[in-house]
Amino acid sequence: MAIARPIRMLGLAAICLWVFFLYEVFGPAKPASPSKIMDQEPLLDYTGEPEGAPLWRAEKGYGLGAEGTNRINATLLSLVRNEEIEGMVQAMRDLERTWNSKFNYPWTFFNDVPFTEEFKTRTQAETKAECKYELIPKEHWEVPSWIDEEIFQESAKILKEQDIQYASMKSYHQMCRWNSGLFYKHPALENTQYYWRVEPKVHFFCDVDYDVFRYMQDNNKTYGFTINLYDAPKSIPTLWPETVKFLAQHPEYLHDQNSMPWLVDTERRPDHNMKANGYSTCHFWSNFEIADMSFWRSQAYEDYFNHLDRAGGFFYERWGDAPVHSIALGLFEDSSKIHWFRDIGYQHIPYFNCPNSPKCKGCMTGRFTDGESWLMKEDCRPNWFKYVGTG
Ligand code: GDP
Ligand code: MN
Repeated sequence: MAIARPIRMLGLAAICLWVFFLYEVFGPAKPASPSKIMDQEPLLDYTGEPEGAPLWRAEKGYGLGAEGTNRINATLLSLVRNEEIEGMVQAMRDLERTWNSKFNYPWTFFNDVPFTEEFKTRTQAETKAECKYELIPKEHWEVPSWIDEEIFQESAKILKEQDIQYASMKSYHQMCRWNSGLFYKHPALENTQYYWRVEPKVHFFCDVDYDVFRYMQDNNKTYGFTINLYDAPKSIPTLWPETVKFLAQHPEYLHDQNSMPWLVDTERRPDHNMKANGYSTCHFWSNFEIADMSFWRSQAYEDYFNHLDRAGGFFYERWGDAPVHSIALGLFEDSSKIHWFRDIGYQHIPYFNCPNSPKCKGCMTGRFTDGESWLMKEDCRPNWFKYVGTG
């Protein structure tokens, strides 16, 4: 008996589908995609408060002045220009709303020129806590004597051709140097141990209900970050070679529990590593930092900074405080003392740290950037998570 052609075709299709199904279920396992590690954006998982020692809450001991007996030696810290007053007020408003109105830590503002009365009045109006306004000593800000003006100008031209932002803006280089190795030497910070760095225009999205400085102290943390990024290799071609030279002179500073694999990764962006001569360029994005200044005040960091400062790259290249801080932490500090503040919702254009928590408002959970989609590849958190973890 002949079977009609359409029925024969249907039967054949059914058999093919069945074979495909059996192959999918029982066939060889497929290799995981190389980017598996970030297939799950950790910020999409529910984020609560950090684990560890009991957290200090604002129930008592955080009142103004003498009532604030639970506050430790810490300050909110901003290097800012008078012209950035609007952005500063906005950033303060966010941080006061989400955190500091409960804990009343003082603010310390730094500037290379005196703050205007308007700046002082308007910023003080944003907080009940004490505000201090500090001038940076000339010898901390000015270009060091060993930097040659002509070489600086020539180098700036070359960097500019390579599209390095702010290359010819001398004050930007001065700012990076001050943030790298000088801010914690300011006399106004002599008795202060911890700081939270805040830039104008940044945003904070999540209520934080514990004393973050106490968290750092109680859990023996040196450094807290939110965002981890790749840098422009052309801004730091000799930073790693200088670091390698320094390490050869001071092998004793290398910590046993260092984060070297994160610093020298070649897998994720091999050409970045190549152009930066051995450094992945991964760094903690230092416009947000919650840190213990004892680390910057250590002999290891002092010697490292002086070595870099003498090498001239703060001016002849455009070394930023972010890679300098990050390399030092990655080499000289125990990686378990570096903490990812995943619960602090944060934005500095164009990147975010936006956790999944009912305490957060105003950012999109798990979104890394609201800029062009190519900015996604600047995300270096996967490497930190891979080599060190999400702690
Ligand atoms: P970017 O984040 O790398 O684009 O650099 P910013 O322009 O945000 O500068 C970083 C920080 O340094 C911000 O807090 C600025 O307000 C501050 N800053 C930069 N240059 C100067 C300067 O010449 N004087 C002062 N007082 N602050 C500066
Ligand atoms: Mn900035």
